[in-house]
Amino acid sequence: MHREGINVNDVQPEDILCDYCGRAAWALGEPCIEGHEGSIVCGMCLSKAFAKLVVEGSGEPVDQVCRMCLETRDQPSWISKIDQEATICLRCIKQSATTLEKSEHWEWSRPTGG
Ligand SMILES: [Zn+2]
Ligand SMILES: [Zn+2]
Repeated sequence: MHREGINVNDVQPEDILCDYCGRAAWALGEPCIEGHEGSIVCGMCLSKAFAKLVVEGSGEPVDQVCRMCLETRDQPSWISKIDQEATICLRCIKQSATTLEKSEHWEWSRPTGG
């Protein structure tokens, strides 16, 4: 997400915050994946979400739209600790993980649970 009150025509890295932890992950040089309408998930949150939903196989469907794809899916979602309305669906978690792993720009690999 974008920090409130910014100049949308001159967005700085510090203005781009992870929707799920609220940190300026982009400015910190951490991996980020952009969703719809400027939503962002950072590599750290993606790791947590991936570990819980994919590795552990836990999590439940939520009656909310996914912040990343803006759709409601009948599949488990991960919920942000700082914002109960910020959820990411299993599909987006897997897609984002694949995207980050393929990226030559970032060193990120999915948690294996071992
Ligand atoms: Zn985050
Ligand atoms: Zn989604």
